[in-house]
Amino acid sequence: MHYLKTEAIILSKKIRGEFGVVINFYTPGHGKLEGVVSGAKKISSKLNAHCEPLSLSELMLARGVSAWRVAGAVTLQNFEPVNKSFEQIFAAQYLAQLTNSLLDKEQPEKQIYFLLKKTLELLAKQVKTEKVLLLVAAYLLKLVAMLGYQPNLKTCLRCQKNLPAQKNILELLAGGFYCPTCVKLDKKVSYKRVNPAVIKVWRVLLQDDLEKALRLHLSLTQVRTIFSLITEFSQIHSQKSINFLWL
Ligand SMILES: [Zn+2]
Repeated sequence: MHYLKTEAIILSKKIRGEFGVVINFYTPGHGKLEGVVSGAKKISSKLNAHCEPLSLSELMLARGVSAWRVAGAVTLQNFEPVNKSFEQIFAAQYLAQLTNSLLDKEQPEKQIYFLLKKTLELLAKQVKTEKVLLLVAAYLLKLVAMLGYQPNLKTCLRCQKNLPAQKNILELLAGGFYCPTCVKLDKKVSYKRVNPAVIKVWRVLLQDDLEKALRLHLSLTQVRTIFSLITEFSQIHSQKSINFLWL
C-alpha cells in the first residue's frame, strides 16, 4: 500500500453515502486531493475532528484501490476568524469554494498553496468588510493569473501603447483594455469604461504582496466594484462557476 504524509488545507467535508465522510484538501506537493475518512466509529470521529474545513492539518493518507483513505490527522492551525464576523466566515468559505472549483485534482502548485495559506491567515485578522473583500479579490486575481489567465493591465490591446491616465475601456473577454483613441475606431467593442484608479488597484492586487493590497485605502463601494469586475473576468476566463452567494 502506498502511504503519504503531508500537510493540507481542508477545503470541504461532505457525507457521501456508504463511504461516510469525504474531504477535499489542498497539499503543497500533490495539489488538490480527495480522501475518505473511515474506520471504526470511535476512530473516524476522532479523525473527523481534525479534518474540519478551513484548518491546516497534517494528514497520513493510505492509497486504496480507487481513493485515498485518511488514516491519521492532526490539526496544526485553525484559520477561524478571530471575531467571527459573518463577512470573515463567508469570505473564508468562499476562498475554499473558489480553490475547490478552479483547481483540477492532483495538479501541484506550491505557489497557490502558500498563497491560500497566507490569505487565510491574513483574513482571520481583518475586521473591516472592505479589507475582507479586498483580500478575496487579491486572492482571486492572483489565483486566475497563476492558472494562466493574466489580464493585461499595462498596454492598450490594439495600439500597444501604455494606457493613458484616463478612463480606458475594459474588454473582459480579451483580457485587457483599449485606450480611448482606439475604441473610437471599433464600434463593436462592448464598452465598460474603467477609471485609472481602478486599474491601479488591479495592478497592486495582481503584482504586489497581500500586505500591500491591504494598505490600500478604498471605500466599500469601490472595493465592491473592483471585486465584481474581477469575478466577472475570472469567470469568463476560467469558464467555471465562481459566483457563489456572497456579500
Ligand atoms: Zn490604443
